[in-house]
Amino acid sequence: MMSTHAPLTFTLPAPDIAPWRAGNTGTEGVWKFDSGQPGRDVMISALVHGNELCGAWALKGLLEAGVRPQRGTLTLAFCNLEAFDRFDPQNHDASRFIDQDMNRQWLDERMDASDSRERRRSAVLRPFIERAAWLLDIHSMHERAAPLLLTGMQPRNRDLARQMGAPANIVVDAGHKDGTRLRDYLAEVEKNFAQLQNAANDSRASQVAFLAEKLVAQIAALQRELATQALRRKNQPKEAPEVDLYHKLAEHQDYERRLIAMIQDRESLLGRQTTLAAQQKLQHELAALEGRLMRCRQALARIERNIERKENGF
Ligand SMILES: [Zn+2]
Repeated sequence: MMSTHAPLTFTLPAPDIAPWRAGNTGTEGVWKFDSGQPGRDVMISALVHGNELCGAWALKGLLEAGVRPQRGTLTLAFCNLEAFDRFDPQNHDASRFIDQDMNRQWLDERMDASDSRERRRSAVLRPFIERAAWLLDIHSMHERAAPLLLTGMQPRNRDLARQMGAPANIVVDAGHKDGTRLRDYLAEVEKNFAQLQNAANDSRASQVAFLAEKLVAQIAALQRELATQALRRKNQPKEAPEVDLYHKLAEHQDYERRLIAMIQDRESLLGRQTTLAAQQKLQHELAALEGRLMRCRQALARIERNIERKENGF
């Protein structure tokens, strides 16, 4: 059973996404559907790594099924199309990316540098990601492991993961030292190998098809959640959540993003200071920014709670 270095074999065929490649947004591979009703902007992304096919199968399934949001908007994005185009099951790791790992480029300065295919593509995707209130970024794993969801450290993200209920395993990760997360939802699955191997070191057989199935279940759970929300709403008096709250949510998410960028900026400067005075000045600035970020996140949690209450008709 134990064959530590058994080569991985791909059992999942590459999906034909040609009919869905153009998108409807003017950006290749990006679809956006607007319900015309106030609500969250929800985004589901796949193929940040070109050889991780499960997400592409899931998005293709959603597009073929004609899934549409009942409120807010739904954005579906095939991210690294150029890498995916090179997918070869005999040499799958080669199509993970072309120039650079796309999941290390989600910083404004890297995207703005525009000096690799992944950085240019990330920059094109950036406006869609920035608008998203909820983002589900689908990756595959190389090793046998239970399906899992990475949430980042924010309590409101953990709460959302619990509400979704699938997958059952939620990993609260601190993100990459490299600091390039795609909002709080996007993180790198492979980073958690060490944790996962403890739970799954009996076999290294490819579980790709199994994981794909679980991912589809996850999407289905999200759809069910959206559907029951709509049902619950129908049974309530006709009071839709105020548009105003969604605007406030978007504003605070933007504010949070800018604070995180400012903190990252100060942290990288701090490492380069040689005088104590300069270090102390930056440390004070960092402390102030951390305080603002904490207050911003508290406000975000309050807004989320208000939205939940209104959507549930209380
Ligand atoms: Zn990945």
